[in-house]
Amino acid sequence: MDFNLTGMTNEQPASGEKPVKVLVIGSGPAGFAAALYAARANLDPLVLTGLEFGGQASLTFAIENYPGFPDGVGGSELAQLFQKQAEKFGAQVEFDTAVEVDLSRRPFRVKTYNATYLADSLIVSTGAASRHLDVPGEKELIGRGVSYCATCDGWFFREKDVVVVGGGDSALEEGLFLTRYAKSVTIVHRRDQLRAGAVLQERAEANPKVKFIWNAVVTEVIGKDAVKAVCLKDLTIGKTWEHPTDGLFVFIGHTPNTQLFRGQLDLDDKGYIKVDSLQRTNVPGVFAAGEVADPHFRQVITSAGMGAAAAMEANHFLDNH
Ligand code: NAP
Repeated sequence: MDFNLTGMTNEQPASGEKPVKVLVIGSGPAGFAAALYAARANLDPLVLTGLEFGGQASLTFAIENYPGFPDGVGGSELAQLFQKQAEKFGAQVEFDTAVEVDLSRRPFRVKTYNATYLADSLIVSTGAASRHLDVPGEKELIGRGVSYCATCDGWFFREKDVVVVGGGDSALEEGLFLTRYAKSVTIVHRRDQLRAGAVLQERAEANPKVKFIWNAVVTEVIGKDAVKAVCLKDLTIGKTWEHPTDGLFVFIGHTPNTQLFRGQLDLDDKGYIKVDSLQRTNVPGVFAAGEVADPHFRQVITSAGMGAAAAMEANHFLDNH
């Protein structure tokens, strides 16, 4: 195989292999913003949607903190608008999932269920997944009382009783945020000590709306069209009981979707892709944007901003190579 001076191989695509200038993996706000910017730079981007079209944001009933929508916008509606806008400028969207990547040389080889792409540059925006409890009733009631985002859904629980699961910073921070709306916030933690920092602990303990149930786990979510109660189990004595609630917020950590890139891209100790301030990964020509590279902000607007930045940098990269 011949390599030219740009690090590209001179290999011709085998039949069935599809060359693409910018390949975007993931269809959340970061992915579609990247596609929009790359399309407007005439880079003919192709977006692989993955299994979760629109990413985590599309699971949100209403997004009210994305600028430009004073009355809010449904998460899945926003994803469709993102797609429409990117396609309007020439982005191609494939309902397909990357299953294997080879970043050892350019063009990067990305295999999906249906094709193999040879990408001159790659934007990874595969997002992160909130960890679920994986108990009966949880999946069925997502968006009907079960939520993984207080900022997104808290407003719907005005004067309601909610349960929060977790004992880390997220659980306490999001639980405290929920007290703006909810009548009561009951934090259920599996131990008798919180993992969260001292300041958040003090604030939560001082808040009259916050109650704690210690040494307990949720074993089932009860309700047909909406959450009515959760089944709790006391881990010290084994007792189980039904705890009535209007909502269940789960904050037991996130898992970045980086399995595909392990061993090829530098990841931090929690598995997030390491990027510099220009969204560049350790592999020249590979950029990462959105939650897959952001354990901190996790907002639609920040992810979209990173996607736009990644596409602008991919454009610079391709100009220079
Ligand atoms: P985390 O620190 O990993 O905490 C997860 C919590 O969920 C822990 O209390 C854990 O219990 C509990 N948990 C895990 N699996 C569970 C299960 N299956 N059932 C019940 N409970 C379970 O995650 P995080 O709170 O999302 O925070 C992630 C990182 O972001 C941390 O480094 C945190 O400091 C940071 N963060 C910082 C801020 C802030 O500074 N304001 C805000 C949010 C997040 P155990 O304690 O028993 O392990």
